[in-house]
Amino acid sequence: MANYVVNEADSASHGSVQLVGNSSAVAVAATPAAVSPPTLVAADLGLKARNQPYIHPSWLAKALAGDRQCLSSLHTQANFSVPKADGDFDAEGYKIKHQGLLVQYAQELRSQGYTVYAEDSNSFKVNAGRAVISGTPDIVAIRGEEVLIVDAKTGQPRSSDQAQVLLYMLFVPVVKLHGIQQIPEGRLVYQDYSAVEVHSLAVTEEFKRRVRDLVTMMRSDELPPVTPSAKECRYCPVRHICSHQVTTVAEASVDW
Ligand code: SF4
Repeated sequence: MANYVVNEADSASHGSVQLVGNSSAVAVAATPAAVSPPTLVAADLGLKARNQPYIHPSWLAKALAGDRQCLSSLHTQANFSVPKADGDFDAEGYKIKHQGLLVQYAQELRSQGYTVYAEDSNSFKVNAGRAVISGTPDIVAIRGEEVLIVDAKTGQPRSSDQAQVLLYMLFVPVVKLHGIQQIPEGRLVYQDYSAVEVHSLAVTEEFKRRVRDLVTMMRSDELPPVTPSAKECRYCPVRHICSHQVTTVAEASVDW
């Protein structure tokens, strides 16, 4: 359990941001109830505020799957243009592998009689209050009444993969992409061509509520608290501007 020394900062507007507080990964006494949780306050660190909050489905997917629990990280990413941190994901290498898998799978679907729409022709934008959610499902395939959304993944399977497809299945009929009005079926395809089906029944009212709650939080003027953890901070896209980042877990020896 971490304890924080917090410099309370004035509540920040989007244009003027300051990082405050510090953190320790060492287990210490319980946080007194009177202390407010630390917040990643908008700071003037060369970060440009977006004109309106922008949300990518992959960010929502990671939060829905529990891979991103620090709401402050999501809020900052939605409201500011955050430069990439050193050691971030190799986008070029990924693109080449991903493209190969996608072209091959699109061909396979065409050979099965589907009409296939790929990548940029699938881009959509959902205006959610003052936020915009924008994404691009890899493949939308239509055969008669059947509609299938496919996402190609070159990495190891993760639970956020399913959440991302579910989000596309939710948004595609909202924007009536390619005239689609019903919740489609979903499929994940991996590098070894193994496939995981994602059923339309999984787009439940509970799922929609969770998505709505996250979107509401990300577009809010209210800053959510930071919840540092070594596991999440390590890959957090805003770690290079966050003074709350931790790199170690709470550890102690006992002579029990
Ligand atoms: S570095 Fe850690 S504490 Fe800071 S925003 Fe990211 S996940 Fe939260």
